[in-house]
Amino acid sequence: MGCPGLRRRPPPREAEEMLEEIRAEFATTYRQTGCKRPSRRVELAMLRIPRDEFVPDSLKPHAYANGPLPIGHGQTISQPYIVALMTELLRPRAFHTVLEVGTGSGYQAAILACLVRRVISLEIVGALAEAARARLARLGIANVDVRHADGRLGWPQEAPYDGIIITAATPSIPPALIDQLKTGGRLVAPIGHIHDIQMLTVLIKHADGATTSNGVLPVAFVPLTEQIR
Ligand code: SAH
Repeated sequence: MGCPGLRRRPPPREAEEMLEEIRAEFATTYRQTGCKRPSRRVELAMLRIPRDEFVPDSLKPHAYANGPLPIGHGQTISQPYIVALMTELLRPRAFHTVLEVGTGSGYQAAILACLVRRVISLEIVGALAEAARARLARLGIANVDVRHADGRLGWPQEAPYDGIIITAATPSIPPALIDQLKTGGRLVAPIGHIHDIQMLTVLIKHADGATTSNGVLPVAFVPLTEQIR
């Protein structure tokens, strides 16, 4: 594994502390999630991606706190524990191509970039897509393609995907995304009504096209929207 192109630098002490908090939260939620602790691959990705590069300047002192932060345009960068958990639930493998819906800051995409071959990430807010693209390029992360598009339609050009991750709340999974998932593939998403608590859900697509879903943990995400801007 590697974080392609990412300049090596020792992780700051804050990143080590963030990882400790993530491990502690994995342990306390183990009964619900079935994940006792993050896998070593996911831990290394969380240590190597500099979260401070993904938050606004004024919030840099809080970049390694285990909480969500605002990134402008009414959007947020997810809590590190949730990023680690969703990554774990996706079971990323080095040869995978993953579709992300909701690029936001690009942080989740950067974590995935360390773990899979290629990430296609869709963002509906043009300014966020642009900023994330520039940030990932600056960090030398070259295996993420950010597209300014409505993620509810997926990205059929590169389908099917080994895994799909939706990082915004949706009452139900858009059918196009299930169509674009490989047989045996996993889709991880917060399912439920917006302005409410959602259920972090893992959907698996079976050989006969049928799907099974498992609710894992209550979470709170910003909504998946319909308005491209
Ligand atoms: N993964 C992000 C956090 C996501 S916040 C990170 O690591 O920072 C949710 C993001 O989904 C927001 O940026 C929002 O603009 C975007 N979004 C909402 N609806 C969308 C849609 N229909 N298609 C693509 N992106 C969408």
